[in-house]
Amino acid sequence: MGGHIPARRRPGEADAAGRNVDEALDALQQLAPSTEQQTQLRSWLDGLDRPCLDLIEQARPPACPHCGCPRSHRYGQANGLRRFRCTRCRRSYNALTGTPLARLRQRGKWLPYLECLLESTSVRKAARKVSVHPSTSFRWRHRFLSGIRRDRAEQLTGIVEADETYLLESQKGSRHLTRPARRRGGRARRRGISRDLDCLLVAHDRTRQTLDFVTGRGTPGKAELDACLRPVLAPDVLLISDGAKAYVAFARDARIAHASIDVRAGIRARGTIHLQNVNGWHGRFKNWLVRFRGVASRYLIHYSGWQRVLDAGVLSTPALLLRAALRRTQQ
Ligand SMILES: [Zn+2]
Repeated sequence: MGGHIPARRRPGEADAAGRNVDEALDALQQLAPSTEQQTQLRSWLDGLDRPCLDLIEQARPPACPHCGCPRSHRYGQANGLRRFRCTRCRRSYNALTGTPLARLRQRGKWLPYLECLLESTSVRKAARKVSVHPSTSFRWRHRFLSGIRRDRAEQLTGIVEADETYLLESQKGSRHLTRPARRRGGRARRRGISRDLDCLLVAHDRTRQTLDFVTGRGTPGKAELDACLRPVLAPDVLLISDGAKAYVAFARDARIAHASIDVRAGIRARGTIHLQNVNGWHGRFKNWLVRFRGVASRYLIHYSGWQRVLDAGVLSTPALLLRAALRRTQQ
């Protein structure tokens, strides 16, 4: 009866907690703990990392991440994780080797940080919440996202809507601008789809699987569509596009059934032939993106992957996100 309801955190509470921890650390230093007490403290701290470490251990690769050999033997332990040594190449590895999270520290803070990703928290706010430096918060965001965004369908089936959306190219955070600086939230110099815009191609099937591709600046041509879409479309799909020449040429060459809808002529749908799902996704993405006040072009694919995961709602807990972030680069 009467389950325990955790109290909601009030603003400023995290800062207060941070101050308390600072005071406790000062007090500990003054106590000058003995070697034995230091060992006790260390094992207590390791205990804080345990839930995260257990999840990491579950991601142990089935084969050596260096050479692919399936045989290994235990090779001690380091930083709370079991180590293995490959019988063929003799190199050692653990469950993080070859993942985007290898060598990231402070594992006790990973799950709280992933909670921030679920809540689309800003870099600075997340840094305050989990007590890391803002630059760490930024680095973690992109390390986690580089794994998480790979959690995606391998193939789209049935009716597939494909359409692009455009975002202002941004060299935010870049040290060397290749063009004169623009004020934040600036406008493209030319009208229409110019070379100042990054293209995000999104394909969405009616089972609600979504795939996103950054195709570079300007409108994608047949070659880009070929590279992005051909590997992920089942042979018997019906592709729906706005009828741009590149789609027509791509579908003809790939021998894929294709229907187009002329949105510019004011036609929104012909029965099931429409782009409303993919255009809805574009709209939600752009609305969600506003909070970040412009994202760097080179990270655009991380943000679209982030939105895709949030929008699908399947990876709904920090633990599920962590499992996705632990995918190996070659997967
Ligand atoms: Zn090996």
